[in-house]
Amino acid sequence: MEEGKRLAGKVAMVTGGASGIGAETARIFAAQGASVVLCDVNAELGQSVAGGIAENGGETIFRELDVTNEQQWIALVAETEERFGKLNILANCAGISGRDPKDLVQQTPVAGGMLEDQSLENWNRVMEVNATGTFLGTRQAIAPMRRAGGGSIINISSICGIIGSFANAAYHASKGAVRIFSKAAAIQYAPDGIRVNSIHPGFVDTPMTKPAHSNPELVQIRLEATPLGRFGVPRDIALGCLYLASDDSSWVTGSELVIDGGLTAK
Ligand code: NAP
Repeated sequence: MEEGKRLAGKVAMVTGGASGIGAETARIFAAQGASVVLCDVNAELGQSVAGGIAENGGETIFRELDVTNEQQWIALVAETEERFGKLNILANCAGISGRDPKDLVQQTPVAGGMLEDQSLENWNRVMEVNATGTFLGTRQAIAPMRRAGGGSIINISSICGIIGSFANAAYHASKGAVRIFSKAAAIQYAPDGIRVNSIHPGFVDTPMTKPAHSNPELVQIRLEATPLGRFGVPRDIALGCLYLASDDSSWVTGSELVIDGGLTAK
C-alpha cells in the first residue's frame, strides 16, 4: 500500500458498485489505497468495473449481493473479514428510483406516478431496497467495525430525503428514512468509534437519471433548479464519500453532506 494515499490500509465494501455513483466510489476508494469489496445485483457490470480497477493497480473483488437479502450480507461481511482481515468502511450506494424500467424516456416530472396511482408493491420495493437494504448492511457492519477499532458508514440518501417534489413519494420516503436512520446509528455507535453519515446528491448523470435526462424539457427544469448550472457527475459524489471514508472526517458523524449544485440552498 502506497504511503500518502487517503485510504491506505483500509478495507471497504461498496454496494451498487456496478454503476453510477457506486462504481465511481469504488474506483476512487481503490485509487486511494483501500481494498474494495465491490458488490451489486448486476454481476456482469460489477465484474467489469472490478476488472477496470484491477487493471489500474487497485485491489478489489466483485461479489453479487442483493442488499435486501440478509443472508447474503452475513456471508459477504464474513468473507470480507476473513479475506482482508477487517472492515473499515461501508458505502451503501445501491438504490432504485421506483420508476418502471420500461420507461426509457420520462414524460413528466412525476417519476413513478402520483401518490394515488402508486401501488403498494412499488412502495414496498422502493422502501425495501433503499431503506431496508441500508439498515441490513449497517447492522452487519457494526460488529466487524467494532473489532477493527472503529469505522465509517456512508449512506447515500438524496436531496429527496430533505425536501419534497413531484418525484416518486416512496423514493422520498425511503431517502428520508436513510437520512434519519443514519443519525440514529451515529448516536448509538459513536462510543465504538463508528461514524455514520448520509450524503444527499442532487441531479447526477447516471443510468438512474437517464430516462429523465433524455427528456429535454425535464433537463431544462432540472438545470434551472440547479444554481451551479450543470448536472453532477458520479465523481462529485464519490469525492464526498472519500472525505467521509477517510480519517480527514474523524470528527464528523450524524451529518448530512449535501452535494447538489446549490439546489436545496434556494
Ligand atoms: P445507478 O447507476 O442505477 O446505480 C445503482 C446500482 O444499484 C445499480 O447497479 C443497480 O443495479 C444496483 N442495485 C439496485 N438494486 C439493488 C439491490 N437490491 N442490491 C444491490 N444492488 C442493487 O444509480 P446511481 O444514480 O448511481 O444511484 C446510486 C445511489 O445514489 C442510489 O441510492 C440513488 O438513489 C442515489 N441518488 C442518485 C441520484 C442521481 O441523480 N443519480 C440523486 C440522489 C441520490 P440495477 O441497475 O440492476 O438495478
